[in-house]
Amino acid sequence: MKVVIAGAGFGGMRLARKLNNKPGFDVLLLDKYNYHQFQPLFYQVATAGLDASNISFPLRKVFQKSRNVRIRMAEIREIKPDQKVLVTDQESISYDVLVLATGADTNFFGNAGVERYAFPMKSTTEALQLRYRILRNFEQALTVKDADELQNLMNIVVVGAGPTGVELSGALAEMKHYVLPKDYPELDFSKMQIFLLEGTGKTLGAMSEQSAARSRKYLDKLGVTVRTNSLLKDYDGKTVSLQDGTTIPSSTVIWAAGIKGNVPVGIDISLIARGNRIRVDEYCRVSGYNNNMYALGDLAYLEEPAYPNGHPQVAPVAIQMADLIAENLKREVRGKTPLVFRYRNKGSMATVGRNLAVVDVPKPKLHLGGFLAWLTWMTLHLMLILGVKNRFFVFCNWLYNYFTYDQNLRLIFREFDKPDKTHSS
Ligand SMILES: Cc1cc2nc3c(=O)[nH]c(=O)nc-3n(C[C@H](O)[C@H](O)[C@H](O)COP(=O)(O)OP(=O)(O)OC[C@H]3O[C@@H](n4cnc5c(N)ncnc54)[C@H](O)[C@@H]3O)c2cc1C
Repeated sequence: MKVVIAGAGFGGMRLARKLNNKPGFDVLLLDKYNYHQFQPLFYQVATAGLDASNISFPLRKVFQKSRNVRIRMAEIREIKPDQKVLVTDQESISYDVLVLATGADTNFFGNAGVERYAFPMKSTTEALQLRYRILRNFEQALTVKDADELQNLMNIVVVGAGPTGVELSGALAEMKHYVLPKDYPELDFSKMQIFLLEGTGKTLGAMSEQSAARSRKYLDKLGVTVRTNSLLKDYDGKTVSLQDGTTIPSSTVIWAAGIKGNVPVGIDISLIARGNRIRVDEYCRVSGYNNNMYALGDLAYLEEPAYPNGHPQVAPVAIQMADLIAENLKREVRGKTPLVFRYRNKGSMATVGRNLAVVDVPKPKLHLGGFLAWLTWMTLHLMLILGVKNRFFVFCNWLYNYFTYDQNLRLIFREFDKPDKTHSS
């Protein structure tokens, strides 16, 4: 069976590993990058806490010794389901089974100003661009004479108080307290403001009431200006305009307020569900394609009794779906009936800063906060990072940061020739 896996994120990588060296399978794992990205730690790359290579892992290294998994670095252009062909920017690839694991990208909800000027954080390169912008702003701030312009450079606005927005705001606040004043002694950091805007009434709204309340308390403690029930209307690269008529001057806006599935061209439009996700059946199969096409993770929309509006777009869902697809493909080869997907929610967590995190565990029902939650968060994330070397370096980095209150990655490896951001460099 020739299985083509489109996307080497959490789900695609897991599936390829599950089928690795399994007799009867010929696997092609394809991604537009030649590395796997550990998205939960993008915010630490953006805030110069971790090196990008520490959270990226070369795909070819994982499967160096594989007898049946091959890698292609290519971008998907189109699927031709009737011919069972995947068209990429490099070549056309035929398949017996296609697994779509292309995840999701930033959703700007059609706001052209935000799309042009705000920073998304859905890839390692975007996290690095954000890092460079933040550092560059402070370099510029040293020479600026105008007070308004200075304020504009020092303010940072994060939009969306889900885990990404909260973690990023907390990390920026810690940079402001512990790192930046030492690097830029000529600047007055009491002027630097970090705003976190959230359209609903609370931070970490998808978590328990306790965790949401705790996260708010931690953010307040770190000096983040949290504005709930606050909707961004527009952004022109210099000023954030809110729906309530107020404005915030800032040259750095980070957009963490929405994602949409990366649906390849060629998928029947009737199969697209809310959030631009592909509707799948209880076996994660995309219906109408003779049971030879699957979708998983952030891209898949599956309603089950406990999740009538689809699953949360988190790594464990992608991993569990990959496990199910691997098992069902093996069953198919053996002529056995497939198993049904049921998500096992083992909990959720977010960190706000040093010794400050929140953890919700469904069974037994537990809500942890503070140091214990922070230790839990760190241990789990360390375990999930791919590669012993990466795990070792991340651990050393965290240890070093914890004791020295410093990081040493504040290097700008980039030419700044344009005033606005560029996604492609
Ligand atoms: C900043 C951030 C923080 C997060 N924090 C957490 C967290 O703490 N805990 C948690 O559980 N989840 C977290 N998530 C969500 C989690 O990362 C996703 O749910 C998970 O990655 C989904 O896995 P996936 O396999 O569906 O897609 P992804 O892991 O996104 O993988 C998709 C892959 O497809 C590739 N791809 C996309 N389009 C194409 C194309 N056209 N051609 C070729 N390749 C393509 C991409 O390069 C990528 O490698 C976070 C996400 C972000 C962005």
